[in-house]
Amino acid sequence: MILFRSALMMRRCVSLLVGRCFGPQPPFFLAGAFTSGFGHIPSSQSSYKGSNGCVSVSDDPSCSGYMAYTTSCAGLAEPLPNDNSVSDMLVDSFGRMHTYLRISLTERCNLRCQYCMPAEGVELTPNSKLLSRNEIIRLANIFVASGVNKIRLTGGEPTIRSDIEDICSQLSGLKGLKTLAMTTNGLVLTRKLPKLKESGLNSINISLDTLVPAKFEFMTRRKGHNKVLESIDAAVDLGFRPVKVNCVVIRGVNDEEICDFVELTRDKPINVRFIEFMPFDGNVWSSKKLVSYAEMMDRVVSVSSSIALRGSKITQLTLQKIS
Ligand code: SF4
Repeated sequence: MILFRSALMMRRCVSLLVGRCFGPQPPFFLAGAFTSGFGHIPSSQSSYKGSNGCVSVSDDPSCSGYMAYTTSCAGLAEPLPNDNSVSDMLVDSFGRMHTYLRISLTERCNLRCQYCMPAEGVELTPNSKLLSRNEIIRLANIFVASGVNKIRLTGGEPTIRSDIEDICSQLSGLKGLKTLAMTTNGLVLTRKLPKLKESGLNSINISLDTLVPAKFEFMTRRKGHNKVLESIDAAVDLGFRPVKVNCVVIRGVNDEEICDFVELTRDKPINVRFIEFMPFDGNVWSSKKLVSYAEMMDRVVSVSSSIALRGSKITQLTLQKIS
């Protein structure tokens, strides 16, 4: 399955508690998407369908930095009633229920993607201002008890966090949570994924923008292409279905690889999600570098006549920022 996402750059990250964003922060962020491909149409596609798609507490792709607020809590989450209903808190003024929460676990990353981070990295928030594991679990518990049924862990790079397995384990135990997902660059995933799966992670998105090792090094300013490919295979072997591969398409950089990515889906249970390049402060965005999802689709259709399109559907991804 190939999924094109319009106007949404999911890589860079999204925070449960965003405090510092440099771009515009609309209360809602919409993204169009449509799907096509060889096979492996996932049931999880529904996570992007309809009005109750993605609700991130603060999933604003225009963020180029964020800050987590400390709360005072002495212990772990207290049990909250969960009757599977959705609290008014999660229903927006259009009546849409937002049951998908994204939590950014760290702003650190072991890559330096050109469109995301400066080569020297970003100024890091002091640990004292970051949420502790207990605070994360407590907040997540409140959201799940209020109706959230899917949580995605992001960063930065979430696998960098040393307590990532414990966080997964505790989150997956929250009553009412159906999906615990992670978006990762895959650099250290081969080593960590078995334990993460044991800890309750049941959905994975791996970011990969190129199938060419030298280009990977150029785009991310780091080595590790092979490790990412191995992580994708490891996720397939461990039974993640589908394994989602997120690919940000930039004209003149990797746009000629679109059909190579499509080819990945022929024999493996992989969903490729093509993401439009979008502007952040400092990422040298230009409309000339943008490849629209319509153009991507045209290329797939014209080059790969053997691809049986499975219909197209514009879906909306609705993100709500609560700060
Ligand atoms: S993997 Fe790349 S896009 Fe994702 S947070 Fe790290 S630098 Fe940014």
